Amino acid sequence: MTRNRADVAVVGGGILGLAHAYLAAKHGRSVVVFERGPRAQGASVRNFGMIWPIGQAPGPMHEMALRSRRLWLEALEWSMLPFLPTGSLLVVYREDERAVVQEFCELTRNQDYGCEWIGPDAVVSRTNAVRTEGLLGGLWSPVELTVDPRLILWQFPEFLAAQFGVQFCYGTVVRSIDLPVVEAGSQKWEVQSAIVCSGDDFETLYPDLFAESGINRCKLQMMRTRPQPGGWQLGPSLAAGLTLRFYDSFAICKTLETLKRRIASETPEYDHWVIHGLVSQTAGGELTLGDSHEYGRAVDIFDKPKIDELILRYIRTFLAAPNLEIAQRWHGVYSKHPEKPFVTMCPVDHVRIVTAAGGSGMTLSFGLAEKTVQEMGL
Ligand SMILES: Cc1cc2nc3c(=O)[nH]c(=O)nc-3n(C[C@H](O)[C@H](O)[C@H](O)COP(=O)(O)OP(=O)(O)OC[C@H]3O[C@@H](n4cnc5c(N)ncnc54)[C@H](O)[C@@H]3O)c2cc1C
Repeated sequence: MTRNRADVAVVGGGILGLAHAYLAAKHGRSVVVFERGPRAQGASVRNFGMIWPIGQAPGPMHEMALRSRRLWLEALEWSMLPFLPTGSLLVVYREDERAVVQEFCELTRNQDYGCEWIGPDAVVSRTNAVRTEGLLGGLWSPVELTVDPRLILWQFPEFLAAQFGVQFCYGTVVRSIDLPVVEAGSQKWEVQSAIVCSGDDFETLYPDLFAESGINRCKLQMMRTRPQPGGWQLGPSLAAGLTLRFYDSFAICKTLETLKRRIASETPEYDHWVIHGLVSQTAGGELTLGDSHEYGRAVDIFDKPKIDELILRYIRTFLAAPNLEIAQRWHGVYSKHPEKPFVTMCPVDHVRIVTAAGGSGMTLSFGLAEKTVQEMGL
């Protein structure tokens, strides 16, 4: 049997796989990408499309997110795929939320976040999408970008194929990697290196490594509205107080404890399902709304209407969009380590597993890929 050849095999056509394919190809490597589905169907097409550096803890993770954002911009501009430089706005209605946001601005003043506390008038000048009753102000950040994840994940491969000759094998499961041979579907490929970005599939490749890695699954429920009428624009992607207890960035704030205690006693149901409220808008005008977090290796295949109601109840407290009728509901699953912001494993020389970027995989994808490509000397 004649063997197909490439320098690098990438397993997984999600955003981590595509980012690795892009950077390896940019460095002159011939690349083949294997994806189990007829097209990407994992976490990468089920998210908000938020490139969200403000969620990363100060230091190396925030630096990686900013580097990743720059690489995202390079890739988006080169491929002429659409994105919106929306920035982000975390709106504040409670004094304990204001305390956290102001402390965060103070603590990160000399770092590269570029965010600032703004009062209610300045919030309203940036968006007409938020409720003004009781509005105390917000955390404005100009850095965040918004992409349409489905469009990017399905069209970026065309750019990679046309620009760099990256080969894509969809509907093809990689069953084993024993370098130089990769067995994928009914094909055998000969490659020098392999990068495994298999998302929440822990069973097909290196199951023993995954079993002992501590990596878990997390299920998130999501919704999308119909396109908003009359070309109504959200402006910046929105978050609110509950988000302050979610991202690592805000964990540096001492004032966070008071807010957490208040939420635990006032609305324990939000803690139980780890709910916060994020809103982004697609190029088609729909609003993407979410989300909740249920952790565990076994993912409940059924969604819980109660969780959707809780998410909507919270989002209605700050979002003033013309039409919140829900047109789509789905859930996504990502892999996550309880302590680490991502996981890389090296089962043998020239093979890397890169996974578990949790709720920040879109944000970190290109930065993580750059790190892998450098470490592997590609
Ligand atoms: C609801 C939701 C909202 C989110 N919102 C955001 C956000 O706004 N911003 C952000 O930064 N992050 C967000 N995230 C996180 C982000 O989406 C994920 O971290 C990221 O998409 C993970 O990318 P991935 O390529 O590792 O995994 P996936 O997208 O799941 O891709 C893995 C792919 O590998 C394939 N595969 C697995 N094993 C094999 C095999 N053996 N052979 C062939 N193919 C295989 C699978 O079919 C799959 O397509 C969100 C996640 C979810 C679920």
